[in-house]
Amino acid sequence: MDVDAGHGAALGGALPTQPGELPLARRLRSLLTWPTTETDPVTHLVRAHRGIHANTDPSVLRRAYTIAENMHRGQFRKSGEPYITHPLAVAQICADLGMDTTTLVAALLHDTVEDTRYTLQALAEDFGPEVAHLVDGVTKFDKAFYGTAAEAETIRKMIIAAGKDVRVLIIKLADRLHNMRTLGVRSPASRQRIARATQEVLVPLCDRLGIQTLKRELDDVVLLHLEPDEHARIARHVHDRPGWDAYLAEVVARARVALRRSRVDAEVTPRPRHLYSIWKDTVAGGHSTPYDLPRIAVVVDGPATDCYAALGAIHGLWRPVPGRFKDFIASPKNNLYRSLHTSVRGPKDHTVEVLIRTEEMHRSAEYGIAANFRFPLAGGGAAARAEQLDWLRRVLDWEQDAADPAQFLQSLRCDLAEAQIQVFADGRQVLLPAGATPVDLAYELGTELGDHCLATRINGRLAPLSSELEEGDVVEIFTETDAANGFDADAAPRGPRREWLGFVKSPHAQMQISRWFAEHTEPGISITDKVRLGRATIGLALRKHNRGLASDLPLLRLSEELGYPDLETLLVAVFDRVIEPDAVVRQLIDLVDHRQ
Ligand code: MN
Repeated sequence: MDVDAGHGAALGGALPTQPGELPLARRLRSLLTWPTTETDPVTHLVRAHRGIHANTDPSVLRRAYTIAENMHRGQFRKSGEPYITHPLAVAQICADLGMDTTTLVAALLHDTVEDTRYTLQALAEDFGPEVAHLVDGVTKFDKAFYGTAAEAETIRKMIIAAGKDVRVLIIKLADRLHNMRTLGVRSPASRQRIARATQEVLVPLCDRLGIQTLKRELDDVVLLHLEPDEHARIARHVHDRPGWDAYLAEVVARARVALRRSRVDAEVTPRPRHLYSIWKDTVAGGHSTPYDLPRIAVVVDGPATDCYAALGAIHGLWRPVPGRFKDFIASPKNNLYRSLHTSVRGPKDHTVEVLIRTEEMHRSAEYGIAANFRFPLAGGGAAARAEQLDWLRRVLDWEQDAADPAQFLQSLRCDLAEAQIQVFADGRQVLLPAGATPVDLAYELGTELGDHCLATRINGRLAPLSSELEEGDVVEIFTETDAANGFDADAAPRGPRREWLGFVKSPHAQMQISRWFAEHTEPGISITDKVRLGRATIGLALRKHNRGLASDLPLLRLSEELGYPDLETLLVAVFDRVIEPDAVVRQLIDLVDHRQ
C-alpha cells in the first residue's frame, strides 16, 4: 500500500488498451483510473496546500488518498458519486483554510475507520499516532451499540479529543460543511434535522474558534435548508442591487484618498455581508425588505494605533452615526475578535458601515484558531491560541461532572446558545453567560468559592446572590471565612442552597451544585433518617440560642403556619436545605415567646 508520488502517472490514461478489449470495459477502466496526472484528484489538493505551505512534502497526501480510495472503493454517496469524493472535499476545505499536512492526511482518512475495514491500529501504524488521534476524534460511536445516546456520546468524545488537539474540531467542521453543501439529495426531514443540529452545535463551535471564513458558509447553507424561501429572497436582493457596485467603488476611492492624506497606509475593500447576516438583521429589525448597508473594510499596514488614526481620517471625511462606534480592540469579543466598528453618513447621505483593523487582526478574524496553522511564523500565535481555547477547557472541566452524555450535550447546547457577558472579579475579566448571577461567577472562579459563597457586592453595593450581572460589572464574592467582615457571622458552615439551582445560569454552576448535593446526601437515605437529621439540625441551631425543645408542639404549629402538610415534611425540608434551620429557629422562638 506504500505508494509514492509517481503512482498517478503509472495508473494514468496512457495505459495501452489490451488487445480484444470491449469498448465498455475500456470505458469502465477509464472511470476507475486517473486519466492523466493533470486531472489526478490529489493534484488540486496538493497545489492548494503548497500554495500556503511551500515546503511541504506532498507524498504522504498521495499515500493517504490511495489508501482512502482503496478502502472506500465500491461505496457511494447518496448523490451516486464515489464515496472518496467526500473525504477529498473535506481535505480540500482544510487545505483552503491553511491547515497543516497532518490535518489534511487525517481529513482524507477521516471516514475510513468508521465505514471501512481499515482499523485504527493499522492507521496508527501507517500514519502515526497524531493522525490516528485526529481520525479517532471524529469517528462516530456506533448507533447499534450506543442506541440513542450515540449522538451525544459522539459529540462528547469529539470535544474531549479536541481538548488534546483542536484540529479534531476543524476536521469535524470541514466534514459538516461538505455534508451540508451536498444535503440537497437527502429527504426534507433529514435535511431539516441535520441543518438544525449544525445550527445548534457546530456553528457556535465554529464561532467560538473564531473561524469566520467557515462560519459564513455554514450560516448560509443552514439558512438555505431551514428557510429556503428566505434564502432565495435575500439572494435575489443581493443579486440585483442597482447601483450598488458603483456606489461602493466611490466610497472606497474617497476613503483611500482621505487615508493617504492622513498618512495611514491601508487597504480599503468592499466588505459585503453574507446572506445569513443580512437575513438576521432584517428579521431582528422587523424590516419588510432586506436590511443591508454598504460596508467597507480598512486594513491598516501598521500597529493597532494606526486603526485609531484611520478612524479619525474616516470620521473627518464623513459624519459618524451616533451610537454606532464599537471598540473591539480595547475590548475584544469573547472569541478574541478585534476591530473598530463605525457607521458614517457616506456619499448621498447613505449610511455606510466601516470595519478598521490591522493585518494581524484581519487574519485572526478570518481564520481564528486556524490562523495558527495558516501563519505559523506570524508570532504571538501561541498565546492567542491558549486564550482562544479557554472556553474549550471550561467545557472539558464541567464535562467531568456531567452524569451522562445526554446531560453533557444539553449543557453544551446551553453554553453555546447563550450570549456572553464580561465582568470583573478578582482582578481579572471573567466570561459568563448572559443573565449569570454572582453564584455563577463564584463557581467560575473556583468550586470552593462557589460552595461557600455567602454574599456579594456588585459595583461596590451589597446585592442578593440571585442578582443578574450586567456587562462590565465589578463583582466581589464573600464566603463564610469572610464572616469576620460582618457577613452573617452566626452562619454555620454550609454548602450551596437548593434554591440556587433555580437561578444559576451556567451549566458549570448547575453541575457543581448538583454534585455537592449528591456528595452530601447519603445515597438511599430514608425519609425516616431525613426526619431524624432534620430534627437534630433544628436542635443544634436552637442550642446556639440556649434554647431547647420540650415537645414537638411548637414545631407542629410552625409547620402548619408555614403551610407544610405535616411536621415530617418540614423536617425533611430542613434536611434538604429547602428552608434554612436558622430561619426555622427564629420563627420558632418568635412563636413560642409570643404565645407564652
Ligand atoms: Mn465524513
